[in-house]
Amino acid sequence: MRDFRAALAALDADGIRRKRRVVSGPQGPVLDVDGEALLAFASNDYLGLASHPKIAAAAADAIRRCGVGGAASHLISGHHEEHERAESALARFVGTPRALLFSSGYMANTGVIPALVGRGDAVFSDALNHACIIDGARLSRADVNVYPHADMNALEDLLARSSARNRLVVSDAVFSMDGDVAPIADLLALCERHDALLLLDDAHGFGVLGPDGRGTVARAGVVSDRIVYLGTLGKAAGVAGAFIAGDADLVEWLVQRARTYVFTTAMPPMVAAAVRAAVDVIATEGWRRERLDAHARTLREGLDGSRWPLLPSETAIHPVIVGANDLAMQLMQALRARGLWVPAIRPPTVPAGTARLRISLSANHSGDDVRRLVDALATLADETRTAA
Ligand SMILES: *Cc1c(COP(=O)(O)O)cnc(C)c1O
Repeated sequence: MRDFRAALAALDADGIRRKRRVVSGPQGPVLDVDGEALLAFASNDYLGLASHPKIAAAAADAIRRCGVGGAASHLISGHHEEHERAESALARFVGTPRALLFSSGYMANTGVIPALVGRGDAVFSDALNHACIIDGARLSRADVNVYPHADMNALEDLLARSSARNRLVVSDAVFSMDGDVAPIADLLALCERHDALLLLDDAHGFGVLGPDGRGTVARAGVVSDRIVYLGTLGKAAGVAGAFIAGDADLVEWLVQRARTYVFTTAMPPMVAAAVRAAVDVIATEGWRRERLDAHARTLREGLDGSRWPLLPSETAIHPVIVGANDLAMQLMQALRARGLWVPAIRPPTVPAGTARLRISLSANHSGDDVRRLVDALATLADETRTAA
């Protein structure tokens, strides 16, 4: 049997073993961690909906009406009216003929990609795509062509050279470690020229970008039945799960063939009810996106001209690239000692030499919360320079 104790010790020796921190109470900007209150810039709860009372009430009401369990897969007896309602609301909101719920974004990508392409087909994937896109592409058994991040010339070359019958271009719509937005219109133009489908994973854009938070594709102002839109529901929407939105026949094909849809228990109806309430809140509480923009301005202006200026980002993700791994870790710990929780991200999650703090903002942060982070970073910029 493999020696897992030795394998773990090797992680310790490389300083890459990760620890879970136990949070109590609701998610929000201030987290109770082992009895200590930490001001966190660490979650994907961009709009602050994870503890929204209306959404929690919708879930509680659904529990009273429908209980807790999904009970069966959708194609047996688990497909509930609450799923239908949530799917209609999502399709209407993002402006596509049909939408389909999945239990997570991870399951959506690992089920959808192998349902769209298979052996002898070709996938074209951005080098910075999320792990579950990489896994979905591998599971599909199609040829995987990775193009350098957002490099449309390289993508065009690969598409032009491919003789595969079915081609799928897949990209994060917002890249999770940099917060930059994919060139949606250019991607679509290439897919039209080379007869490819375009799967856009908008895990970090749905709810945040575009008119009323309709997402990155709505922000780009493009409509096409080649676009397979994937939104996740555990980030800005504050609940759990994911959905695919697009052409009605394509979505029906996924109902038939996406294995992570067919061979899994249906998402609990209470989750679908919460999702529908979240779509309503996303559409009607536009002030949450305005707050997010105001916080981004505070952060940007505060760090402008400092040792660590922010990269341009229209999203809630604001990396502070510090370079060296130990500096990133040192900063994370120094912030933590000041009661601030900002995760450090190191290679291989990001390219070598680009270790960073990944600041994520939430509409539930106050202006003072953001200023506290700016002040701490300014102080640490001086202190760590002196130390180095
Ligand atoms: C978080 C994330 C996912 C996974 O979604 P879950 O619902 O958390 O499983 C997929 N794609 C991207 C780009 C993500 O950031």
